Amino acid sequence: LTTYADEALIALDTLAGRAAGLVTPSLRLGVTGLSRAGKTVFISSLVHNLVNGGRLPMFEAQKSGRIARAFLEEQPDDAVPRFQYEDHIDALVKERRWPESTRAVSELRLTIAYESASAWGRMFSRGRLSVDIVDYPGEWLLDLPLLGKNYAAFSNESFELAALPVRADLARDWLETARSVDPDADADEMTARRLAESFAAYLRACKEDSRALSTLPPGRLLMPGDLEGSPALTFAPLPPAEGGRMRPGSLRAMMERRYEAYKAHVVKPFFREHITRLDRQIVLVDALQALNAGPAALADLQRALADILSCFRPGSSNFLTGMVTRRIERILVAATKADHLHHESHDRLQAVVRRLTERAAARANLSGAEVEAVAMAALRATREGTVSQGKEELPVIIGTPLAGETIGKERFDGETETAVFPGDLPRDPETLFDANAKAGPAEMVRFVRFRPPKLERSADGMTLVLPHIRLDRALQFLLGDRLA
Ligand code: GDP
Repeated sequence: LTTYADEALIALDTLAGRAAGLVTPSLRLGVTGLSRAGKTVFISSLVHNLVNGGRLPMFEAQKSGRIARAFLEEQPDDAVPRFQYEDHIDALVKERRWPESTRAVSELRLTIAYESASAWGRMFSRGRLSVDIVDYPGEWLLDLPLLGKNYAAFSNESFELAALPVRADLARDWLETARSVDPDADADEMTARRLAESFAAYLRACKEDSRALSTLPPGRLLMPGDLEGSPALTFAPLPPAEGGRMRPGSLRAMMERRYEAYKAHVVKPFFREHITRLDRQIVLVDALQALNAGPAALADLQRALADILSCFRPGSSNFLTGMVTRRIERILVAATKADHLHHESHDRLQAVVRRLTERAAARANLSGAEVEAVAMAALRATREGTVSQGKEELPVIIGTPLAGETIGKERFDGETETAVFPGDLPRDPETLFDANAKAGPAEMVRFVRFRPPKLERSADGMTLVLPHIRLDRALQFLLGDRLA
């Protein structure tokens, strides 16, 4: 762990180096989102498009030809796993299969050599920017509120949430297990493990439920990273102690100690080493899935997004973490997988995300940071076409469904292309949030999972690049001003 003295030295070094023109300015870009939101695909496609000169017309520095080249460099943090860019690209490009998803923190440094747009800028800068991309599970971010809660409060809250009608059936097994143990009996490893496992199974069931319930902490029980099986992860809530007394050596005492260890050794270091150092952040959300599940799921997504955004609130989170936070200047909320819709619906999807984001940002009280919303597909797996039905020409999307996907009676083999009516979104996003409206039509967005696409030729026809939708807009918002 770096001490403050170390950090001061590093800061001085950096200043001196920058004055001498030796150090490349850097920017830390956080990439997060709940599991399967599309983080791995986003980072892979972003890097591939920059390194290989992809089509990025809305990314000003690229469009105006000011980017000399973009290349990968050694990352600054030796102790953080590297984002396995090459493996992911091999999977996408050579095998046309989706890469392994994010399971822990990883990092990648992409350096962009550019020519400043202004004469002033050209005089004073070497025209290099290192972007340190930090990929981490959104589940871990949602642990921040735990820092302000003791074990009793965490337990009470967990039991209250489990009693809610939407969760009651999913929680049944865990509650049964929890009631079957005596918290004041002697601590026993096997009992602790049984409780922790059934609690984790309940959290996972909530996450996998088709009602798209929001994620509950502790995040590492869902995404353990390299801590799987460690004592700091082998705990679970217990019903309140009578009279609030705790017997030393009891199961309850053991659970409390582990909960505190989780906060001290897992949550705090994660925030200190990763979150407090970010300059920019993109939060990926699977809005299409929530849309399909109806207004309650959208409300839930909005709540989860507000919780995520409030972790980036400058200043006020300090009392929880006791850490000095760098100010996150820009946050982009991006709905991924827009390639499941026809382009006529892209703006509509963006309107939905914008509404979600505005409400969530207001709740998270995010003054000071610029917040934007976009609908995009980091990797476009479909193209568009029309199918005539009678006199009408109907818009369709065309792609190769993954092996095993079905539409009606048809079952796909992973090799055959097909056209899908994507369904479309209402013109007015408000109707989607109307709690009185019928639960979302099951097929508002026809959700067939497609294989990754074949590559396209770059603008100059020289290289093969990954197709996308609006990735360039995301880049312009996240990096554009630093390449001016
Ligand atoms: P992570 O858990 O956030 O790292 O999620 P991934 O990046 O691994 O994405 C999860 C899955 O979502 C992938 O395996 C793909 O099936 C799908 N996916 C992600 N991004 C896109 C996209 O831009 N277009 C399409 N069609 N599917 C995507």
